[in-house]
Amino acid sequence: MSIYDDAVFKMACDQFQVIADYLNIDQNHRDRLMMPKRAMAVTLPVHMDDGSTKTFQGYRVQHHLTLGPTKGGTRFAPSLSMGETAALAMWMSWKCALNNLPYGGAKGGVACDVTKLSRSELEAVSRRYMQEMIPFVGPHTDIMGPDMGTNEQVMAWFMDTYSVYQGYAVPEIVTGKPVSIGGTEGRRESTGRGVVYLIERAMDMLKMNPEKCTAIVQGFGNVGSVAALSLSLKSGVKVVGISDHTAALYNPKGIDIKAADAYVATHGVLKGFDKGDRVDAHELLEMKCDVLVPAAVDRVINDTNADKLKCRILAEGANGPTTPEADLLLNKRWDEVFVIPDILCNAGGVIVSYFEWVQGLQSYLWTETEVTDKLFRILEHSFTQIIKRAKADKVSHRTAAMAIGVERVMKAKAARGLFP
Ligand code: NAD
Repeated sequence: MSIYDDAVFKMACDQFQVIADYLNIDQNHRDRLMMPKRAMAVTLPVHMDDGSTKTFQGYRVQHHLTLGPTKGGTRFAPSLSMGETAALAMWMSWKCALNNLPYGGAKGGVACDVTKLSRSELEAVSRRYMQEMIPFVGPHTDIMGPDMGTNEQVMAWFMDTYSVYQGYAVPEIVTGKPVSIGGTEGRRESTGRGVVYLIERAMDMLKMNPEKCTAIVQGFGNVGSVAALSLSLKSGVKVVGISDHTAALYNPKGIDIKAADAYVATHGVLKGFDKGDRVDAHELLEMKCDVLVPAAVDRVINDTNADKLKCRILAEGANGPTTPEADLLLNKRWDEVFVIPDILCNAGGVIVSYFEWVQGLQSYLWTETEVTDKLFRILEHSFTQIIKRAKADKVSHRTAAMAIGVERVMKAKAARGLFP
């Protein structure tokens, strides 16, 4: 029994053990690499609009501090637990190391349903969470960013709360802020844009013509909507399926993604958008398409559907969308399904967050074009390394990606030694 007991944490540990076996890591070093450095749980009492006081549970997990401060998003979701937060923090560690960012992984969040909170209640939860975290975070200790259920506005409240306590503006405490308070041009779109850059790279390798390809995107929030918009408007891919937690839609002629985006901007969700046929959300993942982008929650590709996927490219926009059991099935189908693993596929967010942090520390600005160019250069390097390693060692793209990340953390730990 551990404070991290949870199915998602177990999944992250199982994935790590596969890599540790492949890299032949000594048993003495496995737990040191795998277990989080520290974790915080906080209780947040908040005044609700109806005059009552409600308490929410908040978490923050810092996975390792070997390469620099920790970095990671903040998730507001009803089922959030310490174990899930720890799993997400561990994945952030491998993602940062894979992309050569000077960070350990972190993650945090509050167990709450944002759809049931008014704006003032959301602000109160956000500010109280940051206030409770002040002793544990800082621009050189742990830098927060957005994740599911949080956005630029929540980051602005975090930044303001932290700054008020310090007595001066500290924009570098969070990334994913509005540009008006030190956010970076292109950060909001960075994860989705990175997903599409990598899909185009995979298509290029597989000699697929984007204009003859179709895509299905699960999740229509920050990552999913930007990926769908970019696929349809920039790459010329026909997006035939989209979904969120309220609806799943399919249209073989292609869905008007701009209209869907405008609909969600007004209504908050896809429910009621009528430019496609309503289909079962699980079945949508198994429908024929060239590119499948899970960009919502974890473990949606599992042992019940991995052998039924009919896509050529699986681009993992979400964190942990594919279970280790599904990986075993997909590994057998390596010449049918080209997997772009999450720690590469959705790394655009943390890469541009790194730019935003550097810009904040130096009070410096780059243009959106400079930011996007730099982002694509880093993704290109990581993509090439993964493909090379997977080919050379005859391993899956996920194993290659995680191995590069784990090795970098392991080398840094060996170089620094163990104190005392
Ligand atoms: P978001 O809150 O902006 O959007 C989440 C979307 O998923 C919403 O459309 C929601 O309705 C949908 N959703 C929730 N449950 C669903 C379900 N069961 N089936 C279908 N759709 C469902 O979140 P986001 O920032 O877009 O994050 C999505 C995923 O991408 C998460 O796994 C997150 O960890 C990962 N990610 C996000 C970023 C980022 O920069 N935002 C970076 C890296 C990874």
